[in-house]
Amino acid sequence: SVPASIASAMSTGARRGLLMKGGAVIEAAAQVSHIAFDKTGTLTHGRPRVTDLVTFGATTQAELLAVAAGVESGSSHPLAKAILNKAEEAGVTPLAAADAKALPGSGVVASVGNALAWVTSPRYASENGGLDAENLAKATIFEEEGKTAVAVYRENQPFGLIAMRDEPRTDAADAVRQLSAMGITPVILTGDNPRTAAAIAGSLGMQFQANMMPEDKLAAIRTMSEQGGVMMIGDGINDAPALKQASVGVAMGSGTDVALETADAAILRDRVTDIPATIRLSRAAMANIR
Ligand code: ADP
Ligand code: MG
Repeated sequence: SVPASIASAMSTGARRGLLMKGGAVIEAAAQVSHIAFDKTGTLTHGRPRVTDLVTFGATTQAELLAVAAGVESGSSHPLAKAILNKAEEAGVTPLAAADAKALPGSGVVASVGNALAWVTSPRYASENGGLDAENLAKATIFEEEGKTAVAVYRENQPFGLIAMRDEPRTDAADAVRQLSAMGITPVILTGDNPRTAAAIAGSLGMQFQANMMPEDKLAAIRTMSEQGGVMMIGDGINDAPALKQASVGVAMGSGTDVALETADAAILRDRVTDIPATIRLSRAAMANIR
């Protein structure tokens, strides 16, 4: 049977929107030495806004948005929502797209008209013929400003770049300070590029690893596990393997169903400071057993 102090911690947590799926989760959370955070939608609001549109050749801003919004129309990724919002604001109707497929950690591809069209990271685009060196350099400048840029292209036809900015959650820096004071090492694991990641990590006073594909996040969790218990906080489909690998996988409540299903615990109110709160609660419950 579940010890009383653990049962009580679970119900205290539940009242505060910290859902833990079983007593073993409390035990593992009490022993965490490293915490890996996904960036987009976890440490940041996950509500990026479009800041810049760069069109190539004769492409108009309306054409760029119509293609990008069409490709993204079925995606729940925060960047997809930003693009769809911008199209709506601009009065642009998304082009009809079919067979959309997520490229986890890289972007989305869909059929638009009789060709495939992509919205992806500049890196993926430049490796796959969607972005030339000169425009890759333009994307790099946006990234150094802390923005995330995506490239929009159809087979051998580049349309342009869309830059977006996503602000850190207001309590993220406080949560990072609390965790450090508790002797826990917080680190960002992000699929985003190192320049944008450095801008965000620097403002929060934490370490980061960037350009991470889902399997890289998984490997990073494995490496950290050699030094102690690891908690991973994520919100997206790309985080699912790492959430599973961590000793405690935590989903942000507003994230995808995939993240919620895979996780051991969920933070329903999207407050980053609920992470140190969960660990304090778990440590107290375990101390009461002994
Ligand atoms: P994070 O780890 O920060 O949550 P993701 O792994 O979700 O980032 O995405 C990594 C990168 O892949 C993004 O910065 C973006 O360049 C690209 N990407 C992923 N999904 C999409 C999408 N739906 N639309 C455009 N770009 C995307
Ligand atoms: Mg994410």
